[in-house]
Amino acid sequence: MKDYYGALGVSRDATEAEIKKAYRKLARELHPDVAGADGEERFKEVSAAYDVLGNAEKRAQYDRGVDPRSASGGAGGPQGFGFEDIFETFFGGGAGPFGSAQRGPASRTQRGGDTLVHTEITLEEAVFGVTREIQADLADVCSTCHGSCCAPGTQPQTCRQCNGQGSVQRVARSLLGNVMTTAPCPACGGYGTTIETPCTDCSGQGRTHSRHTIAVDIPAGVETGTRIRMTGVGDAGVAGGQKGDLYIEIRERAHAVFERRGSDLHCTLEVPMTAAALGTVLSVDTFDGPQDVDVRPGTHAGSTVKLKGLGVGRLQRQGRGDLFVHLDVVTPTDLTAEQEELVRQLAALRGEEAPEARLAPIGGGVFSRLKDAFLGRER
Ligand SMILES: [Zn+2]
Ligand SMILES: [Zn+2]
Repeated sequence: MKDYYGALGVSRDATEAEIKKAYRKLARELHPDVAGADGEERFKEVSAAYDVLGNAEKRAQYDRGVDPRSASGGAGGPQGFGFEDIFETFFGGGAGPFGSAQRGPASRTQRGGDTLVHTEITLEEAVFGVTREIQADLADVCSTCHGSCCAPGTQPQTCRQCNGQGSVQRVARSLLGNVMTTAPCPACGGYGTTIETPCTDCSGQGRTHSRHTIAVDIPAGVETGTRIRMTGVGDAGVAGGQKGDLYIEIRERAHAVFERRGSDLHCTLEVPMTAAALGTVLSVDTFDGPQDVDVRPGTHAGSTVKLKGLGVGRLQRQGRGDLFVHLDVVTPTDLTAEQEELVRQLAALRGEEAPEARLAPIGGGVFSRLKDAFLGRER
């Protein structure tokens, strides 16, 4: 009976892992490409030994004193010793005999990546839209080699190892006979050509990076989180590939007095108690310049005046939202003795020196008006 343990150089109590490791080491050393015909006999022995010892069932049989290889009648036939084992050993997996080997050489050209930059705009810019200059680090086609990756005056050379195929075929001699396998050419990386003298300005990448200033048209109606896409304005591709896209993400700064809800704007206008009682016209500075706000006599706190069409421009639609001016009646807290006396006289005239508690009906009070205002309802 053959000494399979001896063939692999392992002890009889070697673990599965040790056997596998020993076999791989020997298989590499004895590979016909390395050892030539001299290693062939020894390679067969090693393969046969692994066929038995690498399989728990066959190993147990062998340990009981029966050689599974002769017992099964095969004169050295490779039972249970498949392609996978061989190719996994020699080529690290992946490049199997039935793999995607028939493709032509790979292209060096790759589309450029997409780039995202952030920019902050004011509320006023969101209302009307704005053209903004933004800065971005982007790749350009190398101005020295124009994307060819080669030093000026040179060009890619057909790979000598694969003759421009991008892949190499290997003949592996195994117990099954000669098996052909295809793998990416190690000399050219699968491109079929080699660049002997890469362009020094771009390190053979065909592109260089620099800071760009780009004018971006930011339309009215954008808001925090809106992304504007500029097709073909991103990085130049590798080796002359198509340009990627540039995305500009918007962040809208909060405004001191105007608050935005969708395409409407809201603000609060403070009206002195006397003006609220008597009525007046107040000029309010809006994004569209000063606008008259009509405060009717007897205005309640929480009343709203709508200025139509003075809100935010609608994104990708016509028109603008509205501006809601919420009126807040300001009660004086700093009355002089004389003013206080006048207010007391007014209260006496109105019979309000000791007013009774009166609850407003639902829908009629300030509370309801505030709710309406919050929801942007028209009153
Ligand atoms: Zn270059
Ligand atoms: Zn090649």
